[in-house]
Amino acid sequence: MIIAVDGPTASGKGAIAKALAAHFDLPHLDTGLLYRAVARQVQLNDGDPGNESDAVKACEFDNELLEDPFLRSEKIGGVASRVSAHNTVRQALFERQRAFASQPGGAILDGRDIGTVIAPNADVKLFITASVQARAMRRWLEMNDREIDIPLVEIEQDIVARDNRDISRKDAPLRAAEDAWIIDTSDMNKEDAIASAVKVVDDWKAAQ
Ligand code: C5P
Repeated sequence: MIIAVDGPTASGKGAIAKALAAHFDLPHLDTGLLYRAVARQVQLNDGDPGNESDAVKACEFDNELLEDPFLRSEKIGGVASRVSAHNTVRQALFERQRAFASQPGGAILDGRDIGTVIAPNADVKLFITASVQARAMRRWLEMNDREIDIPLVEIEQDIVARDNRDISRKDAPLRAAEDAWIIDTSDMNKEDAIASAVKVVDDWKAAQ
């Protein structure tokens, strides 16, 4: 069984994908982390994320970089959305993702273009979304927990900018596949969001 989980930043797609992987005992790939590693490698190379050749060169990152906690920062997320707009970067990361999706026994991948480009043949496609306000509030609470002081409005602006870049890019823009199940988590807590995703997969399995 291949499960594709797509959606914008802070929609809850990562938590849902992780929970589905544990529930259905499937390997999970957070594809955003690959773009984040490219972003970090551009910085380490003193490159410019807007420069295509600097971004492509950074696709040859060491796998150890994927363990770097700094990859999870907001700053790197923003740089990742810039490097991910280069088609050649997307191509460089394509095979790795496709191979993961095609492994025997199935897999779960989360990202922006899994249901549309990486695994258009996925058995279950989920598109997780939520209002900008709900997503910004979640991020703000997360940051508060980590004692990072940042105004809510700044987080909102950052989310809107990142959404716009992801939605408007020419190649593999963020959008729901036609056959995706849309889950709007604006008014859901984490447990409810996970339960509704599990139900979609259970219903699909029951129908086989
Ligand atoms: O999901 P995450 O926030 O970690 O992704 C960081 C950035 O990487 C996104 O804003 C997006 O631009 C890019 N990305 C992508 N395609 C994916 C996963 C992430 O373009 N499949």
